[in-house]
Amino acid sequence: MTARPRIAIAGIQHETNTFAPFGAGWDDFVRADGWPEMTVGEAIIDVFTPLSIPIGGFVRAARAECDFLPIVWAAAEPCSYVADDAFDRLSAMICDALAAGNPDAVYLDLHGAMVVESHEDGEGELLRRVRAVVGPGLPVVASLDMHANITQGMVEHADALAVYRTYPHIDMVETAGRAYRLLRQRLKRGEPFAKALRKPPFLIPLYTQCTDFEPCGGLYAGLPALERDGVASVDIGIGFPPADIAECGPAVIAYGTDDAAVRETADRLLDRIVAVESEFQSPLFDATGAVRYARQRGRPGDPIIIADLQDNPGAGGTSDTTSLLKAMVEGGLKNAALGLIWDPATAEAAHAAGVGAEFERMIGGRYGYDAEPFSARVRVEALSDGTFTCHGAILNDLTVSLGKMARLRILSGDSDVQVAVCSVRYQCLDQELLRVVGIEPREQAVVALKSSVHFRADFDRIAQEIILVEAPGANFCRGETVTYKKLRPGVRLGPGGPAN
Ligand SMILES: [Zn+2]
Repeated sequence: MTARPRIAIAGIQHETNTFAPFGAGWDDFVRADGWPEMTVGEAIIDVFTPLSIPIGGFVRAARAECDFLPIVWAAAEPCSYVADDAFDRLSAMICDALAAGNPDAVYLDLHGAMVVESHEDGEGELLRRVRAVVGPGLPVVASLDMHANITQGMVEHADALAVYRTYPHIDMVETAGRAYRLLRQRLKRGEPFAKALRKPPFLIPLYTQCTDFEPCGGLYAGLPALERDGVASVDIGIGFPPADIAECGPAVIAYGTDDAAVRETADRLLDRIVAVESEFQSPLFDATGAVRYARQRGRPGDPIIIADLQDNPGAGGTSDTTSLLKAMVEGGLKNAALGLIWDPATAEAAHAAGVGAEFERMIGGRYGYDAEPFSARVRVEALSDGTFTCHGAILNDLTVSLGKMARLRILSGDSDVQVAVCSVRYQCLDQELLRVVGIEPREQAVVALKSSVHFRADFDRIAQEIILVEAPGANFCRGETVTYKKLRPGVRLGPGGPAN
């Protein structure tokens, strides 16, 4: 290891739901949304070092010992395929800078479940291109989201991968710190680690992946104890099921200096996951049942929280399906709120009409998961420009830009339901996302959120109870409800479910 190695740092973040109705192009990576805007060169150090995003955590962990070659960082909200153009341009920015900059090592802040139009293993293809530029001997390490669908290509072309160990993801900074320690060890050692990759034979739905509960709680808590002499790192990528690619699904990866110990450890962890297959489950309501349950129990100041799992935009949902909203209104819920509905035209109409205005509106439902948009008379209760700072455990003072937002009260029927509408699609994982339009979540009797698990990091503390609803959306709960064409044969489409 040279006295002060110079590490190239870059990041591309995209979680690709190949079943979702639209993809991500170059502009989606350029603009700020729930993520910072595309950032290039030295500005990466200034922008990300204070943030709880992996590349910032990496800089904080490494800066006492290393210099940096910051290249580019870009992210787009989860959706369907990443356009070839966007991927090729971002890859070229990284590879050109590596070729010109001659760094001592490379760190990449990646997701691990990116699918590109022409490359179903997006990160594997990026790492292959990086490896082709830097050669076989230069250390290349990446951090990955826990939802990575880890592939043979990623493992082949990277020296090591470090994966988040919490869902909700509150350990991005710590994960980047582990990535740095692996990179440091790799630089000192001067030769590659032994590696092992194992794949359990079943997909695990998002709503059962939460590390606040079993079985993921125990599986992830047990990882540090598996690291020992000769085994530097052991991780689980829990997988992102709505990605129709051959290597979709959970994976175990292990790295170290003792090849036999690395393999044995990976086998042992694989066995642990397989042994708890039947425990990956949580009860699901339909929309009507969830509303009935919440109406009986929810009280202002002690809310029932309903998670609208399948329309989670953080997993590629459109965040505009209306089955749950319809059930909330028809079920006569009082003191109830729902967020976030992604409907730029409705937000625009609310801003044009102004606070206090009432009008008829077709809300959401633009992408076919519901029969039609929800039609209602609404009153504009509050407006926001949608740029504000969140304070929950995941976002940690990150400023988001969701475009024009509005709070609308549904006037049809005898319910009392309000909706928070936004112009940039984003998962409702932080209380500030509702407060910005004047909804104080704790004061509601019922709060419905388009999120699978991340909302728990900030809403758990105010919830009387959290219930899960399976209403229409692109982030399906049960693999057997869709058709996979590329998934490798024999994989069960859910724990204990039918095989592909
Ligand atoms: Zn994730």
